[in-house]
Amino acid sequence: MSGASLVRSAVALGSDLLGLVLPLTCAGCGRGERSLCRTCLAAFGAPYRCEEDTVVLAAQDYAPALGLATWTTASYAGAARHAVLAWKSGARPDLGPVLTAVATRAGQDLGARLSLPQRSASAPADLLVVPAPSGWRRRVSRRLVAADLAAALARGLARGAGAEVWAADVLRRRGGSTHRLGAAARTRGHGAVRVVSALPAGVPVLIVDDVVTTGATIHASRRALVAAGAPVVGAFALAATPPPGRAAIPVLRDGPPPTC
Ligand SMILES: [Zn+2]
Repeated sequence: MSGASLVRSAVALGSDLLGLVLPLTCAGCGRGERSLCRTCLAAFGAPYRCEEDTVVLAAQDYAPALGLATWTTASYAGAARHAVLAWKSGARPDLGPVLTAVATRAGQDLGARLSLPQRSASAPADLLVVPAPSGWRRRVSRRLVAADLAAALARGLARGAGAEVWAADVLRRRGGSTHRLGAAARTRGHGAVRVVSALPAGVPVLIVDDVVTTGATIHASRRALVAAGAPVVGAFALAATPPPGRAAIPVLRDGPPPTC
């Protein structure tokens, strides 16, 4: 077994043991005995468009003019933010099945609502779902959140649209994480994204990430995919950062106050 594999196994074993030892509470509100209580789970709803918000958030520093149809299921605040952060950090691996199920449901909903372009005779699939690139730390620890979401979303889209939908983890970061760079540096091409595998010709692509804020990662991913000849038709993120002002408004959907 290689050194990297040993590290991965040790981290995975540590996470599993943690799940066995620690009592389970809702990652959204800290109460109850489920990974995510029904009220906190309701923070993730039917997919809605959020690309206008990314432009608002990005405008303070730069304007990437994302201009790409982007869907999300939740405002990245409150319970939804707590849950996504806990899953991403590796602290709560038990959230994986819950949040990927949210993505599958969203995919099914989108698949039923959207009409995919007519597949050409030579195309092997109707749609390719491509996760945004994960940094090397996440790859080593196997916390491939975007890849897990992409696979789950693809399953839902295939079901909802009755179509052939593939997930393909083909993007990698060039020169480290974009998260440590300022937004302006990101647009100059630092932390850019590259495509590491050949893509099936003529198949439209949907980019998937865990959270969208300014859209910089989706923008860089889109640029790399288009350069590789892939027609990018949209993006999906589990949650989207609300613009300033809206973040202060409590996110209350239908239903009674939180109980677990
Ligand atoms: Zn809760």
